[in-house]
This record gives sequence, C-alpha cells and structure tokens, in this order.
Amino acid sequence: MDSKESVATLKGVGKQATETLQEMKIETLHDLIMTFPYRHEDFQLKDLADTPHNERVTVEGRVESEPSVLFLGKKKSRTQVRVLVGRHLIKAVFFNQHYIKAKLQIGAIITLTGKWDRGRQIITVQSHSLGSRPDGADFEPVYSLKGSMNQKNFRKLMRQALDLCKEELEDCLPLSLRDAYQLVSVQEALEWVHFPPDGEALKKARRRFVYEELLLFQLKMQALRKKNREEEGGSQIDYDLHKLKQFIAALPFDLTAAQKRVVNEICKDMKEPYRMNRLLQGDVGSGKTVVAAISLYAAVTAGLQGALMAPTEILAEQHANTLAQWFEPFGLNIALLTGSVKGKKRQLILEQLAAGEIDILIGTHALIQPDVQFQQLGLVITDEQHRFGVDQRRILKDKGYNPDVLFMTATPIPRTLAISAFGEMDVSAIDEMPSGRKEIETFWMKKEMFGKVIGRMEKELAAGRQAYVICPLIEESDKLEYQNAVDLFQQLSSYFQGKYSVGLMHGRLHPDEKEETMRAFTEGNISVLVSTTVVEVGVNVPNASFMLIYDAERFGLSQLHQLRGRVGRGSEQSYCVLLADPKTEVGKERMASMTETNDGFVLAEKDLQLRGPGDFFGRKQSGVPEFKMADLVHDYRALETARKDAEKLVNSEEFWRSEETACLRGHLEESGALSIGRLD
Ligand code: ADP
Ligand code: MG
Repeated sequence: MDSKESVATLKGVGKQATETLQEMKIETLHDLIMTFPYRHEDFQLKDLADTPHNERVTVEGRVESEPSVLFLGKKKSRTQVRVLVGRHLIKAVFFNQHYIKAKLQIGAIITLTGKWDRGRQIITVQSHSLGSRPDGADFEPVYSLKGSMNQKNFRKLMRQALDLCKEELEDCLPLSLRDAYQLVSVQEALEWVHFPPDGEALKKARRRFVYEELLLFQLKMQALRKKNREEEGGSQIDYDLHKLKQFIAALPFDLTAAQKRVVNEICKDMKEPYRMNRLLQGDVGSGKTVVAAISLYAAVTAGLQGALMAPTEILAEQHANTLAQWFEPFGLNIALLTGSVKGKKRQLILEQLAAGEIDILIGTHALIQPDVQFQQLGLVITDEQHRFGVDQRRILKDKGYNPDVLFMTATPIPRTLAISAFGEMDVSAIDEMPSGRKEIETFWMKKEMFGKVIGRMEKELAAGRQAYVICPLIEESDKLEYQNAVDLFQQLSSYFQGKYSVGLMHGRLHPDEKEETMRAFTEGNISVLVSTTVVEVGVNVPNASFMLIYDAERFGLSQLHQLRGRVGRGSEQSYCVLLADPKTEVGKERMASMTETNDGFVLAEKDLQLRGPGDFFGRKQSGVPEFKMADLVHDYRALETARKDAEKLVNSEEFWRSEETACLRGHLEESGALSIGRLD
C-alpha cells in the first residue's frame, strides 16, 4: 500500500483515534512509521546472578510449586509461586492478579518481568507471559503519545502500518553510500527502529537514520552554498602575493602556523570567482586582527577597497590604531568612521571613500549607512559577531556591492555546531595561541572568601595594575539572589576611597557614558571596573591583570572563558577568580573545568556536552537545527562524514541526473533549498 494513504485505513482507527493521531501530527501511514519510539523497554533475558538489587529484569523459568493466594481486601491480593530460573529457585510475587493461579501449573514455563529483590530472592512481577519468550520480543518500543492513545494500541497500529507499506518504500540512500558505510536498508531500519530483535539491530537502525538525517540536512546546506556561489557571482580578487609577503615579513612578530593556514584559506577563497562567505573563529587572543589586516591588504593590492566593522566604537578605534601602525610603511590610507565622526571630518572621509582614495575603512555600523559610498568594495570583515545580519547584507547589495565577507568570532564554536548552525558557510579556525603567552591562573572560591579575594586584588592594584569585577545583575532584584553591579560598585568605591578609583559599567548606561567609562579604564584612570557582561566582547586593556567573576555559576562556560579573556593580554601574570557556590554536580564540574584549562575549544566542547546544543549560543533561535534521531554531541563524526559526502554529491554531475539520487533530490526540492535564497 502507498505510504501516503491515511491512517484511517488502518484497522481499529476510528474517528477518535484519527483525531488523537492528528494531534500527534500523524496523518498518513508514512507519518506513522516515521514516528520513532523515544526508548525501548528491555526484556532481554538476564542472568539473575549478574542483576543488581532493585533492577528491573526479565527471566524465563519453570513453575516449581502450587501458587498461594492471599487476599488483602476487596480488590487486593498477593499471589506467590516458586520458580526455578537457571540454578536459582526464586519466589515470584503477583499483586492483584489472583486469577493467575489457575494458569500457574507446576512444570509450566513462564517468562517474568519485574523488580528483583536480590536479598530475598523475589521478583515482583510487572508483566508475564506463559511459555518461552518468543523471538523478537526482547525490546518493546515506547512512544511519546497524546490523548487516549496507549502504548499497546499504538504498537498494534505501528505493526499494521509497517506490514502494509514497508515493502513499497523507496530507499533514498543510494546503494553506493549504503555499501560504503554498511548501512541497513530502509525496510530493515524501519522494522528495527520500532521492533528490534536485539540490541544490535536497534543500533544498526539508528545508525542508518542518523546518517540519512544528517546527509539530507547537509545536502540542503551544500546545495544552498552552491546556489549562492553560482548565482551571486562575486568577484575574483587578484591580489599581489609579493606585497602580502612583504607586509607579513614587516610585522613585529611571526605568524603562528594556524594564522598562516587560515590566511591561505582566505586568500585562496578570495581568488576564486565566487563570493566568499567565511567564518573565522579563533579564541580570544589568538590573533584574528592580523589575519583581518592581511586579508584587507590582499583586497587593496588587487585595486579594491576593504572595510572592517566592529561592534563598538572602542573596538573600532582599537583596530584603526593597530592597522595604522602595521600599514604605516606601506603607504595605505586608513580611515575611521564611527557615530562620533561628524561634520566636515565625516564629509571628507565620504568624499575620499567615493573617490577610491581610502583603502581601508574601519568603523562601527556607521560605515554601512546609506550615504557611505565606496568606489569599489572588495571585502567586508565583521569582528566579534555571530552573524552578519540580513539587513546589513541587503544594504550592501542595494548599494550594488557584492563583496567577499569574512565574519570573525572569538566564541570557540564546537565544530559540529559550526557546521550545522553555519552550514552554508565555510569555516576557518585559528586553533593555536601565539607563543610566549603566560597562562591565566584561574581559581574557584566560595563566596564567603570575598574579603580575601579583594585583598589579593589590592596587591595587583598596588603594583599599578587594573582589575575587572563582573556581576550577573545590574541592580538588586527580588527574584534573583545574585550580586548586582550597582551595589558592588558602591561598596568597592567606599572601600577603595582615596586609594583607587572605581568605575561602573552596564548595558543600561547611556552610550556616551559607556564610552567614557571604557576610555577612562583603557587610559588607566579607572583602576577597578565593576561591570556586567557587557565587557565580554573584544575589549583590550593589557594592563588589567585581575578578573573577579561574582556568582560565576550563573554563566555558561564559553561566556566565562570570554570574560576571563579580558585579562592575560599583557606581559604580566594574570589571575581570574570565580566566586561561586554551585549547588549541582554539573555546576561544580563546570567551575572545575574552568580552573583546569585555558583552551576555549575544550571548554566549548564541555559546554556543549553539559548544556546541549540548544543552549550553547545562549538563545534557542541559534540556527542549530533540531534532529529526530541524530544528536550533535554524540554523532559529530557522522555529521562530518555527511558533510563531506553532501559536498561531493552536489558538486557531481551525476547527482543532478542519476536515477539513484532522484529520491534525495526530491527531498531537497521539498525542503525548498533549491528555490529559496540565502539562509541569513
Ligand atoms: P583576537 O583574536 O582576540 O582578536 P588580537 O588580534 O587582538 O586577538 O591579538 C591579540 C594580541 O596578540 C595582539 O596584541 C596581537 O598583536 C598579538 N599577536 C597576534 N598574532 C601574534 C603572533 N603570531 N605572535 C605574537 N603576537 C601576536
Ligand atoms: Mg579581536
């Protein structure tokens, strides 16, 4: 039967069942058989000698005694019988099933499932069947159901549906792929995912569906990427390799191997006649700025202009100063354009930009305002952003630019998430720190130690250095018992009065106030900056050597790592103290991880394991897709494999023509990947 038939064709499905199934989003037989159980009851026969006390167990045995029944009230009873299981003579106890007595004849073979009391050698029976356990009944599927539907009836429907339409299903996975990974057919997989004869079969079924699901997802991503590349055109940037080499040689340091690798990846991509769409991730301090500078220079040597966009004015200024220094011997014209650049100065920049006299423009979002016109924009880099917004891309496009784009982020994103949330982008990673950095020493202390911690901080201040104190809240809250920045600022101000100046920073301050405070801290006029997490991004004050994070258990590992990255930027030994009294084991584990490693990728992986993909980016709408069977934490190898396969497929002629891949193409069409535009 065609799997598109309605479930109403099944025996036993009346009006009510149809409605309940509809609530579960099950309308066709196909919907039904693709509703997977979330777990299986395990009825495998076990040896009682290996079964721990109080575990659920299934055993097969022979009735050895006349059952005895004890009535405990009107409807209550306790039936007891001796059963020989292997070499164990045990008692089986049935509650409220006195009628069973008649069936339990001496010598009868019976299969029992129930809780094993090891000390008293008793099984309290939950379910039983006379005779040996039939083959294929070791695992019983358990589904997530709605309304009046129960497991037993649902299983019956599933059985019927599978028998009716399984054989006619088309296998979407080409034989070549199934052979290559030894994946079972869709028929076997469907049968076993619901009614596995044993644990192995269930694993095989799962393995196939995980791969299929990830392959379909990656096909969609890769098809999008291919489509973008072909339709958007983009320019081929013919940079001058010789000049790039000169620039790199003149830098005050040697590039790390990782920096060299990503520079190569980026340059190669820029030279291709497509629009580059690349994510560059690198831990805080891994040296992304210089990679940006080299990439921008590549565009400039090809006669184009480059833009570098930062999220705050401070960061933009920081970048402008750094790049001006590096490019000084090369005669480049670098300009800074932020919201505070106004009047004549701004006018001049705009004129020079339109005339092509400015090579690199650095700024905040101010640099994509309507009146900002480039002569020929070749490359746009955004710093410290998860995503380059739809609007920004549209604005650039509307201006007639289709530049290569590079997004830089300091959030080390586990590879699995990077290639799922950013699947249609290419990813480069700087996974190595410049040598000679001093590791930040991290401590985890109880909140009652606050006084002592402040003493330690004072030592750093006395040596002329600066400190950050981070709080989860801005102001006191009746709902949350966490430290707030306003109170702590007042406390520390009076504590340090006459000795050190204390500043306050949080998201509700006026932008001008924020800038002013940050500037005062950068210039050393503020010694202690009490702040919420707004300082998380990109701020570079090398003289700050002490970071105190209050209520650290409140923050995710990646966020803590970002915060910690604000220190350890100079030549001095830096310290990070986490004040936290975590209540849960996971919380304790997280604090311990922070003290154990300074590697952002290790922490990110840990964060992913502890919090799951949905929470990783802090928001649900992270762009990370939800899968039925696949799990991004456990199935990361399958994800990588699927990505490679998908890439190969969409770039092969056969994929778009062959009969064997028609089913996969059908899925792609259904998903809309072939007709819609970019995801971002
Ligand atoms: P981030 O990746 O966090 O943006 P930055 O680009 O700000 O890091 O670099 C951090 C510091 O490391 C800067 O002072 C930069 O000049 C320096 N740096 C970058 N690359 C190297 C290198 N290969 N060797 C030594 N220092 C480097
Ligand atoms: Mg940076």
